[in-house]
Amino acid sequence: MYKGEIIAVGTELLLGQIANTNAQYISRKMAEIGIPIYFHVTVGDNEQRLKEAIIQAQKRSNIIIFTGGLGPTQDDITKEVAADLMNKRMLLHQSTYEKIKDYFIQRRIKMTENNIKQAMIIEGSTVFPNNYGLAAGLGLEIGEITYIFLPGPPSEMKPMLEHFVAPWLVKRNQGQTFHSKIMRFAGIGESLLEDKVVDIIENQSNPTVALYANEGEVTIRLTARAEDESAALSIIYPIEKEIHNRLQDYHFGYGEEKIEQVVFRFLNELNLTISVSESCTGGLIGRQITKIPGSSLVYKGGVICYTNEIKSKILQVPEEILEEYGAVSMETAKILAENTLKLFNTDIGISITGIAGPDKVEGKPVGLTYIGISEKGKETVVKEIHLSGNRQSIQWRAAKYVFYFLWD
Ligand code: ATP
Ligand code: MG
Repeated sequence: MYKGEIIAVGTELLLGQIANTNAQYISRKMAEIGIPIYFHVTVGDNEQRLKEAIIQAQKRSNIIIFTGGLGPTQDDITKEVAADLMNKRMLLHQSTYEKIKDYFIQRRIKMTENNIKQAMIIEGSTVFPNNYGLAAGLGLEIGEITYIFLPGPPSEMKPMLEHFVAPWLVKRNQGQTFHSKIMRFAGIGESLLEDKVVDIIENQSNPTVALYANEGEVTIRLTARAEDESAALSIIYPIEKEIHNRLQDYHFGYGEEKIEQVVFRFLNELNLTISVSESCTGGLIGRQITKIPGSSLVYKGGVICYTNEIKSKILQVPEEILEEYGAVSMETAKILAENTLKLFNTDIGISITGIAGPDKVEGKPVGLTYIGISEKGKETVVKEIHLSGNRQSIQWRAAKYVFYFLWD
């Protein structure tokens, strides 16, 4: 059972001069290949404290991933300090050394003594090539523990992790490989969704269950370790089924397909056209749907009816309605949707009006949103939702809800 820990080395991280984005990236990558990370540690370029961090990590983790401090300067000490603790020697890695030498020859600058440091490796380690910089990365197994050393600059660290380290870790895992399946959800917030499956997330190690939220959608990635893909999928299946059963009202698909793509697909199959009047989302719905090639088969167009003037002039919402109920109201959303359908002569007319914040409008709370869906020959439906987050995330979520209601 893997227990991963990331040690980010660099005083600038502790001073708050840069954010530890490497830890985030590495964690995500490890989750993808089924290695859970339990600790993020950040330590400065200080020998004593780095040693303490390593000793602590050795007690609780069996994969320790370092990032930073592989460079040529005096303060780059990660490999040296670790080697010292492991009682290992540092050796010159010939081909890395040649590469560094060439680099300086080509640029006609003198190679200084300290650049040799970047070609020094801990004895017994596997070298990961650095195609975007000079310092080589290292992988090393000592007893139960696997150590990985990655450079600090993200432009070097990311491709090294992706192309060399991740495959190396996967291969070492007794010939077993990792396979993932992604389940996608809409119409439910991240925390509520997590609440419904938290017991599954906590009790699973194969497959691992990880939750991500992005731009108004929530995804669950199930990753299994097995000899091949079909064996992995059969390990995933019972857990997937259980999650589906609990969340079927929100589970709209798998893989990379977003909700607007799913909605586009079925509207297209049914030969239905839509049009949208957007207030609070300012065109985001039109943007999302028109990202899809061929969207004109389904989406005829829309109005960004941001002000009351446009709501009444272009979409004929009576001024009395706007005065009596306000722009953000069930009544306005209903008329907007119906008149959008007429204006564009589509099968479905949609409206959205809400308060994206940061301030209250018409005495109504931030996040209050009405979505109207008017369909030929049917009663218009208006949904009231309450969204949270900042202005941008409220807008994203509001737009996603439109697709969610269309899917639903
Ligand atoms: P170099 O050869 O550039 O010295 P290095 O492996 O020694 O590389 P550091 O000196 O620790 O790495 O960091 C170099 C730069 O990489 C930092 O100034 C910073 O911009 C970036 N960096 C380092 N660590 C991180 C991190 N954890 N997250 C994001 N960026 C980082
Ligand atoms: Mg450095």
